[in-house]
Amino acid sequence: MLRGMPTPPTRRAFCGTALASLGLAAWPHRVTAASSVPASAPTPSPAATPAPTSAAAPAAIKPKTHQKPFVYPFNIGAIEAWSISDGHMLFNDRIDKMRPPEARGAMAEELVAHGERLDGIPLYVNVLVLRYGREVVLCDAGFGVRPNPNIGWVADGLAEIGIRREDVTQAILSHGHSDHIGGFINAGKPMFPNAALRVMKAEVDFWRSPTPDFSKSFRRDNIPNMIRDVRAALDILQSNLVLQRDGDDIQGGFATFQAAPGHTDGHCTLLIRHGQESLVHIMDVAHHHVLMFSDPSWFIEFDHVPEQAVATRKRIFAELAGKRTRTYGFHLPWPGIGRVLPRGSGYRWEAERWSWGS
Ligand SMILES: [Zn+2]
Repeated sequence: MLRGMPTPPTRRAFCGTALASLGLAAWPHRVTAASSVPASAPTPSPAATPAPTSAAAPAAIKPKTHQKPFVYPFNIGAIEAWSISDGHMLFNDRIDKMRPPEARGAMAEELVAHGERLDGIPLYVNVLVLRYGREVVLCDAGFGVRPNPNIGWVADGLAEIGIRREDVTQAILSHGHSDHIGGFINAGKPMFPNAALRVMKAEVDFWRSPTPDFSKSFRRDNIPNMIRDVRAALDILQSNLVLQRDGDDIQGGFATFQAAPGHTDGHCTLLIRHGQESLVHIMDVAHHHVLMFSDPSWFIEFDHVPEQAVATRKRIFAELAGKRTRTYGFHLPWPGIGRVLPRGSGYRWEAERWSWGS
């Protein structure tokens, strides 16, 4: 079995040259005392933007800000599950990435009412790992190691569990953004060489199309660079890709793909179930634990097709709240497990209480 296997290689050995090989060193990034930014997601505020790093001189990998891996174990029926923190981000331009702009006053009131910070939007990066029989499933892979010490911690979490990268048999890519795909690459090769990397066909079709359509998006980052980088990552992962459609089960029948378009064309959620227990991984259906719940029509500028993303969120929240379904969120406060519950005309995120297994 997996326990007692040799100690996995260090995080540096996993990922040391991935940045240069993927061209990531040339991606814009910023590192401040309390903030970090995904390479392909936001436009950094001018005050926090360093000069772009030259591809010829990759930025050094600094020690991560927290040395101990954050790994939370739990179960879904007989399925072993872990929530690994890949790190954290803070968009320190208050709530300016939230839309519509005319609702920002109401958003600020909601944040104050919940005792939340107003100076920026925190984003957690949570990676769900499942083990059932012979299958070891990684649901997205986080950023991968980058110069930013606040992110790229997944390899440490897997080592803590005792899972080697060769042990991963199935991987889920919810969509192509860098905080989800980056960790699947190591030194220009697939990080998890034995894993079938399952992604919705619509997602690959979007990034592979001659002119991916961002006409409805409010994203302010460098779209051509993002398209180039996602395509480069898909090229590296090509031999591992398995294209999925809405309703497809993964091997063993314990997880099902569910189309959840809007954040990207082929964005998906994952229904995991065993026995009487289930959990829905909502991926990027929500980026904040208050704002998208108080009013599901509020959205973050990273959505490719906001109107569709909002409709998807409303549909999924109604289903989850109606059944009180156990839920997991990629960007919700770690470990990211809880439930979507009705509240007024909207919803609230009720985090599940920690359990030590008793
Ligand atoms: Zn994301």
